[in-house]
Amino acid sequence: MRKIVIAGNWKMHKTKEEALELVNQIKAGFKDNGEVKVIVAPPFTSLPYVREALKDTTIGIAAQNMFYEKEGAYTGEISPLMLKDVGVHYVIIGHSERRKYFCETDEGVNKKIKTALEYSLTPILCIGESLEERKSGKTFEKIETQLEGALRGLSSTDVKKIIIAYEPIWAIGTGETATPEQAEEVHSFIRKKIAQKYGNDVASYAIILYGGSVKPNNAFSLLREDNIDGVLVGGASLKGDSFLQIIEAGIRVSGGES
Ligand code: PEP
Repeated sequence: MRKIVIAGNWKMHKTKEEALELVNQIKAGFKDNGEVKVIVAPPFTSLPYVREALKDTTIGIAAQNMFYEKEGAYTGEISPLMLKDVGVHYVIIGHSERRKYFCETDEGVNKKIKTALEYSLTPILCIGESLEERKSGKTFEKIETQLEGALRGLSSTDVKKIIIAYEPIWAIGTGETATPEQAEEVHSFIRKKIAQKYGNDVASYAIILYGGSVKPNNAFSLLREDNIDGVLVGGASLKGDSFLQIIEAGIRVSGGES
């Protein structure tokens, strides 16, 4: 049985004090039933403080990006070694904002995934189509290309360790969410592709998150879809009460509510 994952991507928000305030709210409000994995992805500058605040909890910590080299002359970059050093467990890779503003390619994403795995960091791989691609019927083509590019050269064992987040670009930060049916269609396509390439066992293990304007009022209906194993939340993860309500939706679904 796959665990439900509720992950919050704080993007470029929160000073150290604000990050601690938020994480303490989440910590106080989250009643872990063992069925839902909560992850927060603060900015780099807050990682060690958030790590310290969460040290006696089950809440996981993700970085929002990393470089694929261990060390070297790469001004401004952060390595997997540095993330391990401050107690990070997960790393978001290939977010559409990184692809858009920092020219990240499938090839670079693939290198980052390989390095993350080498350092025992769990990659949260983001893939998703643009509005134009959706309108012109290219959604599945795009998803397949990104998936193949990101996973190139990985073994079945490696793929088992990756979390995939389907994030349609047109739904990120726009207030427009994919309907549960639209999301489920893509999620089941992703699982099918994984099954074809890596086998049914790997596909049944694969945790596939949905991301794109997830809010307290739509989380439950998305999470109860068969192939939606969790959510990656941007805007609504910046406030303790809304993030906790989304976690609560995960707990309800994990308890069999439908
Ligand atoms: C995201 O950035 O991963 C995201 C899904 O953002 P939002 O929830 O704000 O659309």
